[in-house]
Amino acid sequence: MKIKRQKTAKKVISFYRYNYGFREPFQILLDGTFCQAALKNKIQIKEQMPKYLMGEIHLCTTNCVLKELESLGKELYGAKLIAQRFQVRNCAHLKNPEGASACLLSMVKNKNVHHYFVATQDQQLTMKIKKLPEVPLIYIIQNTMVLEKPSPKSIAQVSLLHRDLFVPVHQQQTIQHLKEEKGLVKKSEFQHKKRKRKGGPNPLSCLKRKGKPSQQPTEEKKQKRSRKKRRIAHSSATSKETHQV
Ligand SMILES: [Zn+2]
Repeated sequence: MKIKRQKTAKKVISFYRYNYGFREPFQILLDGTFCQAALKNKIQIKEQMPKYLMGEIHLCTTNCVLKELESLGKELYGAKLIAQRFQVRNCAHLKNPEGASACLLSMVKNKNVHHYFVATQDQQLTMKIKKLPEVPLIYIIQNTMVLEKPSPKSIAQVSLLHRDLFVPVHQQQTIQHLKEEKGLVKKSEFQHKKRKRKGGPNPLSCLKRKGKPSQQPTEEKKQKRSRKKRRIAHSSATSKETHQV
């Protein structure tokens, strides 16, 4: 069971590494609810989380989370002590602290540029994060930490990206032309934006190229190449003959 859990986590981490550029040390943004659950379930976050995520981590929180824990008093005193040991990351609410949930959401909702993992037991925050792309989510369930699978938004975003990558450029152009013919899209912006030069083409572009050959081989070059191939084949054949002799 433990091995399966670890394997799943590894897959999820790889997904974020390769598709969204997550790197070690992983930035884990925690709230009071997660600290409280860790305390209750005797989970040592600092020791267990790097093992589970198979990499170095930075545990961090925000001022709003600490302020909220302070305001909740005795019941969350233990959680507050844990959270106080984390690095405090700047949020946008320095003068007017927000609720922890709203604060953490604001830290990740704009494309999660700092590559935060969010560790929370807050149901509402969890629901909102599951709707975002690019935000790994960690929670505690049955005495263990669980890294949630990538959200449908993340998966859709990544597959779209891959689809575009796998269609060769010339095919993309053909698709674009067909769409234009059928009136599905307006003429491509590329065509509109194409600069018109006054006074004919750039004279430098009309000069014959020296040195490097152009990328698209002309008929003449193709012929030359095939002649060359033939010559190589011929010479290797003759060399074989001489060896045999
Ligand atoms: Zn804040």
